[in-house]
Amino acid sequence: MTDIKSLTLAELTEQFRAEGLPAFRARQVYGWLHRGARSFEEMTDLSKDLRAQLAGRYAITSPQAIRRQRSARDGTVKYLWQLQDGNCVETVLMHYRHGNTVCISSEVGCAMGCKFCASTLGGLVRRLTASEMLDQVLFTQLDSGEEVSNIVLMGIGEPLDNLDNVLRFLELVNSPEGLHIGMRHISLSTCGLVDKMDILAERRLQLTLSVSLHAPDDASRSAIMPVNRRYPVDAVLDACRRYFAKTGRRVTFEYTMIAGVSDGEEKARLLASKLHGLAAHVNLIPLNPVAESPLRPSSRQAVARFQEILERRGIPATVRRSLGGDIDASCGQLRRRYIQGQPDNDAKEEPPWKHGD
Ligand code: SAH
Repeated sequence: MTDIKSLTLAELTEQFRAEGLPAFRARQVYGWLHRGARSFEEMTDLSKDLRAQLAGRYAITSPQAIRRQRSARDGTVKYLWQLQDGNCVETVLMHYRHGNTVCISSEVGCAMGCKFCASTLGGLVRRLTASEMLDQVLFTQLDSGEEVSNIVLMGIGEPLDNLDNVLRFLELVNSPEGLHIGMRHISLSTCGLVDKMDILAERRLQLTLSVSLHAPDDASRSAIMPVNRRYPVDAVLDACRRYFAKTGRRVTFEYTMIAGVSDGEEKARLLASKLHGLAAHVNLIPLNPVAESPLRPSSRQAVARFQEILERRGIPATVRRSLGGDIDASCGQLRRRYIQGQPDNDAKEEPPWKHGD
């Protein structure tokens, strides 16, 4: 069976044409799928025969929300979706002044092994299809009743480790006949897979590329991010320069503040000198502690001092507001709890959900 929601409108039109179906049928079905139809039965403007014919040939992905947690502090909502094969991924819905943002997962688990990240503790299980990424946006929107205007690929997984499916997802979510979310409203975060950053640059997409740097020197970066042994700091920064030259888009850097590991003043000075001339913006993110890891967040003073050093050297830096800290809303923590059969953190704070759980 073909995964129909992973097909672009052009591909679906071509497949339908080969089966003797007119182009307008493809547009009809594509429209239903991108409005969140879970079965061909729902497509009431198709004949019963055609619905049966399509159901025999195509599969429609349809995740189930098995956990929903709403932060009592800031209204951030975290979803745990169960996919058709039983695997789970997380999606987070955040409310910002500039609109509602969903943070989606690109893989089940992750192979990158970052020491501070809960997503990678069980390794990579599998990559998500384009349809499974799109579903996270579609069904978060439908379930919450809130319109999504921005997407960040910053959930579970390394998007550039699943580049073909991610590019396909971007085309789907950007399509005028679908959700039509503009590339400038989409960010993609990577731990710095240099070869894939170059391939992405060739596409000249107008999305925002975020690079998870977390340390300015190879010794400390390799200690927390094994990927650094393959693609060291300077190679990643060179790729960022090429990316900017090709796309004209400034790269954003994510920098997690970990006590005694990444937050020293000398690290701030080195970071500022390495980013000099890159027109970069740095997001300083206080570490969200993960139970399995001894790493701890930097003090408020250390974060403020780090920011001040960067800014004095002309590198704009913001301290990322941490949303959903009370609901495990960081990278793989909810999925991890679920597969370990532990109770959810603070799950008692049940919101008045429209559909119940
Ligand atoms: N694999 C991609 C995207 C997923 S992680 C990447 O590495 O960029 C999204 C961001 O959250 C990354 O910057 C990641 O390093 C960061 N992150 C992961 N675990 C974290 C934690 N416990 N506290 C703070 N940031 C974390």
